[in-house]
Amino acid sequence: MRVRRLKQLLLFGPYVVFLISIILCISLFILVARENRRIDAMQEEIEHLSTNQDGLIEKVSSLGSAVDELSDAVGAISNELSLIDIGAIEGGKVRPVSTRTTWPTRVYLTFDDGPSANTEKILDILDEYGVKGNFFVVGTESENLRRMYKRIVDEGHVLCMHSYSHKYNEIYSSVDAFTEDLDKIHSLLVEVTGQEPAGYRFPGGSSNSVSRIPMKEFIKVLDERGITYYDWNIVSGDATNPMLPKEKIIENSLSDLCEFEEAMILFHDLSNKTSTVEALPEIIEAIQEKDIPIVPIDDTTIVIHHYTQ
Ligand SMILES: [Zn+2]
Repeated sequence: MRVRRLKQLLLFGPYVVFLISIILCISLFILVARENRRIDAMQEEIEHLSTNQDGLIEKVSSLGSAVDELSDAVGAISNELSLIDIGAIEGGKVRPVSTRTTWPTRVYLTFDDGPSANTEKILDILDEYGVKGNFFVVGTESENLRRMYKRIVDEGHVLCMHSYSHKYNEIYSSVDAFTEDLDKIHSLLVEVTGQEPAGYRFPGGSSNSVSRIPMKEFIKVLDERGITYYDWNIVSGDATNPMLPKEKIIENSLSDLCEFEEAMILFHDLSNKTSTVEALPEIIEAIQEKDIPIVPIDDTTIVIHHYTQ
């Protein structure tokens, strides 16, 4: 019996071992295949998630720039609104009624938002007519544009600050944010020109309705540092989109000159404002024909403030 069993074992043993090995191999294969499928599924999931995340980031950033654009537009509108004389509207006329019939004693040409691709052209025109301008500049990372700060100062024009970022939602978010931005543009201008900037102009003006923090908080920061801020009393209208035609800029800049003892005209030094550059020679010629001096801001300038307590 024992010998027969031994024989049977010897005869079937290898087959059994072989069979068990095959079964083990197949099970292992199935197991590996299943794990592979799981890994694939997980990878797909990860890819899907990261694509979604990219999409989400894109959406958030496009939303951010839309908010920026909107706040710029609101700022521009509030500028325009701040210049409308309420009393004059009540009297049935949009323009303030002036009793002055004489020309202003001095005119200031002020250029906001530069430096830009147009700064050199503006400087060339001012040089050609022998007049000095007033540049309220913002910050830039471009070395080429930073050279413009120096050229403005070197050629005897007035260089003032107009914030570093010009982003209303950042600058006006808190007194700390405003101060940080002010420090940034201040040190950049001092570093490049070696001179103290001559003043400040609030993005959107001192009576903008964009800031949720009362403007007097920011005015206090400037006062503490002895920095004078300037608004304007004549709007060339070149901030509009689409770009205002040259003729309209000339008309806006000149038609109200008689209203003021000193006229401070607001222009924009932005690369897409080419009609401003085109309008400038005729504006200067018309003012010079009336013998009105076009001058840089100094200690004797009548300071225009829109903000009222
Ligand atoms: Zn501006």
